[in-house]
Amino acid sequence: MKESFLLYRRLFAYIKHYWWVSVLSMLAMATAAVLTPLLMQQIKPLLDESLIARNAEAMWRVPLTILCIAIGKSVAEYIGNVASQWVSNKAVEDLRREVFNHQMKLSISSHQAQTSGRMLSRITYDIPQVGSALSTAWIVVIQDSLTIVALFFYLFWKAWHLTLIILVIGPVIAWVIRKASTGMRNSNRKQQSQMAEMTCAVEEQLAGLREIKIFGTQKHEESRFGNIARRLRLETMRVARISSLNVPLVQVLAFAAVSVVILIASSMAKSNLLTPGEFVAFLGTMAMIFEPIRRLTNINATIQRGLAGAQSIFELLDIKPEPDAGTHHIERARGEIRFENVSFTYPEQSDPAIQNLSLIISPGETVAFVGASGSGKTTLVALVTRFFEAQAGRILLDGVPIETIPLQELRSQFALVGQAAALFDDTISANIAYGLGDAKPEEIEHAAIQANAIDFIRAKPQGFSTRIGTNGNQLSGGQRQRLAIARAFVKNAPILLLDEATSALDNESERVVRESLVELRRNRTVLVVAHRLTTIRDSHRIVVMDKGQIVEIGTHEELLAANGAYARLLSSGEDVVADDAEGTLTETRRQ
Ligand code: ADP
Ligand code: MG
Repeated sequence: MKESFLLYRRLFAYIKHYWWVSVLSMLAMATAAVLTPLLMQQIKPLLDESLIARNAEAMWRVPLTILCIAIGKSVAEYIGNVASQWVSNKAVEDLRREVFNHQMKLSISSHQAQTSGRMLSRITYDIPQVGSALSTAWIVVIQDSLTIVALFFYLFWKAWHLTLIILVIGPVIAWVIRKASTGMRNSNRKQQSQMAEMTCAVEEQLAGLREIKIFGTQKHEESRFGNIARRLRLETMRVARISSLNVPLVQVLAFAAVSVVILIASSMAKSNLLTPGEFVAFLGTMAMIFEPIRRLTNINATIQRGLAGAQSIFELLDIKPEPDAGTHHIERARGEIRFENVSFTYPEQSDPAIQNLSLIISPGETVAFVGASGSGKTTLVALVTRFFEAQAGRILLDGVPIETIPLQELRSQFALVGQAAALFDDTISANIAYGLGDAKPEEIEHAAIQANAIDFIRAKPQGFSTRIGTNGNQLSGGQRQRLAIARAFVKNAPILLLDEATSALDNESERVVRESLVELRRNRTVLVVAHRLTTIRDSHRIVVMDKGQIVEIGTHEELLAANGAYARLLSSGEDVVADDAEGTLTETRRQ
């Protein structure tokens, strides 16, 4: 109960700015509520004056009054509904933006702690639920509560002793409502996490379509998805059953009350305590009071769903953004990187990915990192950009500890080309100038030339204005990679991080991409994780890693002569892929 209250209090912060529309909506609802008993009151003159006494004036007055009240009530209801929907949709928009923006501020470890399906379904599914709890639910709660109160006062004023019957039935109905609502929220929460699983499965299906087809795992995926869909249906049905049971139960109770009233009131009518008009008006009003009560019992489901959604949204919003407390400003780094006894373990892992590693990389130097897969090369590169925080030791950029530099400034010193560049569903030029809105067309074109991308871009019907589809799926791997390199050219950062930038490419694309990389590496500090011998040999120094530690450092020739880990790595031929054009493995072995 207290928990729900706290959730609601926090939610109300989102509609606070729009209080005047909320007030308007409530006023409109109050008007509609007050007009409801007035409408019922017209039954009395209708029966007593028009129909029984045949009063000519009443024959006109009564229908006209009914029409006027009905129009007033409808207009008020319309205003009340639209205004409250407006407020809730504003809140939905605000929440969506806040969640989206917050997600970008979270550290990569926080992201890894959640499935992407969960992240997606928050924005697509949970937030609208919160929206309905803020609007539809409140329209019903406010309007119906007011209507009940208004009708009740009218009844009490007309025949207080009959009204006492409602007072007996009321608490029973309330008890039924409470009973039904327990457990409903848990069910809703389960439903939400199943929804996330479903989103995740669809995402995986779309991303892994080729794998699914080639491995022939349609049946497996079908049954996996079928299971999720079935569990979601069962849970949804559970909620549906609970909330549907509410309606007939309340109805039975309501009609029991009406029957008792009819019994008592008929005997009162005999003794002329109520006119026929008063009697019918009373019964009608009483029947009307149960409809809003019934709706109120149903609305609980909506509110509980909204609260469950709110809970999951606030859980995300409460995750702290990645720390960014640095105050040491830098313009353009010289590019010296120093690792001092750095150790790092991924969250919830026992073995460290980097162990007590020390290394100094001079400005303008190209250092290649090689080692078996899982030896920590990618992790090391990720630490420099503070994608993850080292637990021990220090990393310094130009002699300044990186955590004392504002994140944005630190990251602007790096251009990153990974194995698979993330491209956005936009034009080629927008993708090249990504993050640099003010890049001039000439700059973009120049970068495309430097990245050897200009030929394929020109061959596209719309050139630089060609849209490349979600994650660039209308381009080949080599073309995507060259766009990523063009992007790095435009960014013109002093330090270049290449993490297996060419390992996913075939030999021909690799050759083209490598040529453009040679240009990009000029006058920059470069950390390159590479499998290709040619890339490795171009480097000033080679760092051989094993289990998060450096086991050897030197030039290609030095390391070959030492005949240690590097030589073994080369001769194993597993991790260092030969290049057909130059420096093949066999050639290396001959040396
Ligand atoms: P490399 O790039 O040399 O192949 P990585 O730096 O990717 O190696 O991985 C180093 C170690 O850290 C491996 O044991 C790997 O399983 C683990 N690891 C990598 N990424 C994560 C992650 N996001 N969460 C947990 N463990 C990870
Ligand atoms: Mg790696």
